Amino acid sequence: MNAFETFYANSASSHLMGSIVQKEIDQVREKLADSIGAYPSEIVFTSGATESNNIAFKSLLLSGDIPTGKNHIVTSTIEHKCVLAICDYFKSIGFEVTYIKPNVDGIICPNDVKDAINEKTALVSIMHVNNELGTINPIGEIGKLCSENNIIFHSDAAQSYGKTEIDVDNFNIDVMSFSAHKVGGPKGIGAIYIRDLRHRKLLPVIHGAGQEQGLRGGTIAAPLIIGYGTAIDLFPKYYQSFSEMRIKEYLIEGLSNEGIGFNINGRTKALPHCLSLTLLNTNVALMIRENDQTISLAQGSACSSKEIEASHVLTSLGLTREQAEGTIRLSFPLDVTFEQIDIFIKAVKKATR
Ligand SMILES: *Cc1c(COP(=O)(O)O)cnc(C)c1O
Repeated sequence: MNAFETFYANSASSHLMGSIVQKEIDQVREKLADSIGAYPSEIVFTSGATESNNIAFKSLLLSGDIPTGKNHIVTSTIEHKCVLAICDYFKSIGFEVTYIKPNVDGIICPNDVKDAINEKTALVSIMHVNNELGTINPIGEIGKLCSENNIIFHSDAAQSYGKTEIDVDNFNIDVMSFSAHKVGGPKGIGAIYIRDLRHRKLLPVIHGAGQEQGLRGGTIAAPLIIGYGTAIDLFPKYYQSFSEMRIKEYLIEGLSNEGIGFNINGRTKALPHCLSLTLLNTNVALMIRENDQTISLAQGSACSSKEIEASHVLTSLGLTREQAEGTIRLSFPLDVTFEQIDIFIKAVKKATR
């Protein structure tokens, strides 16, 4: 709120007020770059991870910088809907796309990526942490593989940033997507990391007056960026104390104690902030309806939970339609309390036979 009032000037202006805003933006750019082992010149602010994912594909692949004949993309079946939509578009303009399925634990295996790439592969895009399961993909190994084969490696880090270590050099990342509102920042702001940005020929995602190194025209959203910077500062501390509550373990134990049957989707190596739970004997639709004034519950990810289709992530894991319908995806607010979890367990029990 303070940034909206205090830093109103256009950061592109050369007067004092403009340069004060520019300095604030530069600090956030530096902070984000530092936190992932990148240079500030390799960071472009965007409207969020959806836009960053669009840039990762379109600005790199359609720039004329990629040798002709390199028209193959490798991605996974459990990417965010926007990546799958972008891939559909690339198929419509003549690209070939290979979709890798996760293993039973919801993880994309480097060996499967190795089998999928060929001499025509231009880009591999594998998300860092899955947004429905919380599972962590071994992107370091996948990055190494891509680097050895001279393939651009993009990873969507909307769910992982601030929650698990990211080092773009150690992981051999070429392009990475971020979103502020996944770390408590404002909606409508995010970023993309592009290795050696200045030396690449990139197709602007918005042709404009040269902002953001010519990649994305339009007056820079200073208040949102400054809010993003505050989120970057504060989030780790909150996430740390949230993690120490071991809320997932508390919930799982509570469900077991009540004799409620469940499966956890994506069991191993998952982050603590989200949980995909298949309730075996519970009328999930009824439970969601009965508690919609008190518990904010969704089936699948929030972006597409109003759709009637079963989640593509769950069907990729081999769940039947019926099992997918009995699945809820929980994400915990960082200030969650044990009492709130008790209320949730009571609600599940009431809808369970
Ligand atoms: C939320 C999310 C997105 C979309 O981010 P926006 O900033 O809302 O566009 C993309 N990918 C993943 C993995 C996400 O969790």
